[in-house]
Amino acid sequence: MSVKLNKIIQSIEAIAPEKLAEDWDNVGLQVGSRQQLVNKILLTLDISAEVVKEAVTKKADLIIAHHPFIFNGLKTLSSDWEKGQLIEQLIKNDIAVYVAHTNLDKAETGLNYYLAELLGLENIRTLEPSNPVTYYKLVVYTPMEATERIIEVLGKNGAGAIGDYDYCTYRSSGIGTFRPLAGSNPFIGSLDKLESVAEDRIEAIVPVYELKNLINQLKKNHPYEEMAYDVIPLENGRLINENGLGKIGVLKAPMDAAGFIGAVKEKLGLITLRGAGNMPETIRRVAICSGAGADMIGLAKAKRADVLITGDLKHHDGQRAQENNFWVLDAGHYGTEKWVVDCFQKILKTDLGENCLEMMVAEASRDFIVNY
Ligand SMILES: [Zn+2]
Repeated sequence: MSVKLNKIIQSIEAIAPEKLAEDWDNVGLQVGSRQQLVNKILLTLDISAEVVKEAVTKKADLIIAHHPFIFNGLKTLSSDWEKGQLIEQLIKNDIAVYVAHTNLDKAETGLNYYLAELLGLENIRTLEPSNPVTYYKLVVYTPMEATERIIEVLGKNGAGAIGDYDYCTYRSSGIGTFRPLAGSNPFIGSLDKLESVAEDRIEAIVPVYELKNLINQLKKNHPYEEMAYDVIPLENGRLINENGLGKIGVLKAPMDAAGFIGAVKEKLGLITLRGAGNMPETIRRVAICSGAGADMIGLAKAKRADVLITGDLKHHDGQRAQENNFWVLDAGHYGTEKWVVDCFQKILKTDLGENCLEMMVAEASRDFIVNY
């Protein structure tokens, strides 16, 4: 079974569009072509010399990584230094490299969502919503006999999708008037005669990226020669949006701090877990931010989390937690992000279904920090 690399990229981008990535980041296809065929994928957090060697040995055609392989601008491809040697090996062996980093961190159902589910959280929301999508209210006027068809076109083309619901529309009835002029070919009425028609006014929200296609589809399906419609900008796109860093949710049942520590270690597969600040008696509301998320301490407290789980905690982050009477747990940068390989597998399996190809997790990918 082989799948075009472009299809694999589309599956990942449907969840984690590249445009969500931070400005300083470098994501997307870094080696290879979207046109090449892929049979085997190697999934990894980082791309090291060992991971490239593993990809060659296991005959992978594609490495999907979380951390960018090419990050700072490359000044040379010379194979006299390690990066050049790795790129040479990848190209000689027809191995492509694709990276989804901060776009996957910030995606509504990306890495942090995966972690929140892994921890058994419910009512999962985004800790720091960002990258708001611009929404419009689209209003279409239609003769009543075409109302159902127009609602179908709206729903099929991305209008009226709110949270776990789609086809959300509102309609009101009224009387439309018009007068067909010379050169027209009216669906109802005759030339130069003022017509009154019972019409529905149908409204639905639509994200900016669906708008152009939606209006084209509506025009194709609308019975009138000239479809009457309004496009109204909305101010509440940020409220609807769930992209952004970190997640916050609640445990099914509250736990005491000792029980919670045990549960986090077990669910994240950790041998050790560091922490700082003041341990509350009961944990119910939990915030999580993969990688280095100590900057979220203030926000997690403001959103009434009982604890923030993140990685890369520094001495002064611990001090800040204590001064704010807040509890923070350091599950490690690797400890929180090693799960990215499972997150990638879930995205691809869900989207490709039976057409999903062989995926392997890189055995050479490991924590660079060692506890002796
Ligand atoms: Zn990271």
